[in-house]
Amino acid sequence: MGTFDFISKHGEHEEVIYCYDRNVGLKAIIAIHNTALGPALGGTRMWNYKTEDEALTDVLRLSRGMTYKAAAAGLNLGGGKAVIIGDPKKDKSEGLFRAFGQFVNSLNGRYITAEDVGTTVHDMEHIFMESQWVTGIPKEFGGSGDPSPYTAHGVLMGMKAAAKEKFGSDSLRGRRVAVQGLGNVGSNLVNYLVTEGAQIFVADIDQDRVKAVSTAHKLQALSTDEILFADVDILSPCAMGAVVNDESIRKIKAKVICGGANNQLAESRHGDQLKELGILYAPDYVVNAGGLMNVFVELEGYSPDRAFEKTRHVYDNVSKVFEIAARDKIGTHLAADRMAEERIKKIGGLRTRHAGKSNRSFTTLKEVNNR
Ligand code: NAD
Repeated sequence: MGTFDFISKHGEHEEVIYCYDRNVGLKAIIAIHNTALGPALGGTRMWNYKTEDEALTDVLRLSRGMTYKAAAAGLNLGGGKAVIIGDPKKDKSEGLFRAFGQFVNSLNGRYITAEDVGTTVHDMEHIFMESQWVTGIPKEFGGSGDPSPYTAHGVLMGMKAAAKEKFGSDSLRGRRVAVQGLGNVGSNLVNYLVTEGAQIFVADIDQDRVKAVSTAHKLQALSTDEILFADVDILSPCAMGAVVNDESIRKIKAKVICGGANNQLAESRHGDQLKELGILYAPDYVVNAGGLMNVFVELEGYSPDRAFEKTRHVYDNVSKVFEIAARDKIGTHLAADRMAEERIKKIGGLRTRHAGKSNRSFTTLKEVNNR
């Protein structure tokens, strides 16, 4: 199959850019999936892909996912992603990221990059030397820094919306919540849940983290085998993906699943199955959009207060997903996609394709988005 056929088989992408610089060993692909709502935003992943097709498949899939995430979050952003082919432990150099930054810059704001798996804030600094079209840069450079507290606050908002839907009240006081994973997102979420008065159970494969969090808040720690199947009201996966799978699904006792982890359903059919089992699933990419909201605010000129305020929208977004699921009698995982598609059609239809701009000031972005 030729490259164009391969690309069209993986979705309706607007543009796919191959970036090559022999001197620094750069081989990268940028995929712009959709800019109907605004400039395409998505991180740069560096991975030791075995083949170029594998890298292309990944960038096409991930950029499409970003279109849905941004649209469902109510942001004026499109979906894009980049992959650099190489070993993040061995192949990084200043030259590599600066050369990549020049390619990003050549797109004139049609694509905005950020950190992802295999890249760090330090790499973003090198891209930033060549292009202003990078977000998630350190606070010292006027950026927004670590997005996790915002992601976690969004998860809390999603959880409250899900509690309202399932239990009739969005108060989490006394609710039994199991948090799987106590990393950046999970530990911040626990802090919020403590303030809410929830009864919290925690687990992590890293026993130091378990000890630190459970001792600080006097919480009950469970083993990593127990946490998914604990007798709780809400299960919050905040570690890795595919936790809802053929093996786990029938053993889950929680009535609600709402967490920060990406790709919680091993396959889409597990979303249908959760519906049949009467377990309310708050779709991951709607719930964990707080980090994306935070970088969006960075593009406007960063204010932590505004970013925090924005993450409150996750409550309404998740509620809307439940409304669509009830309206169309479908699982919430499908309702989330439908919500995103409806917004792209309605709002995106008002605009032409995003043309890119050389100035990233708030007024400029707003201007572009209001065209
Ligand atoms: P992290 O690496 O800081 O934390 C993950 C934690 O999960 C670690 O403490 C790890 O030890 C633990 N863990 C791994 N396997 C486990 C298991 N089987 N059982 C229990 N614990 C386990 O990552 P993070 O930034 O907190 O992100 C967590 C999840 O949220 C990821 O899926 C990530 O893609 C997603 N996410 C994060 C953000 C963000 O702002 N950081 C935004 C959107 C989505």
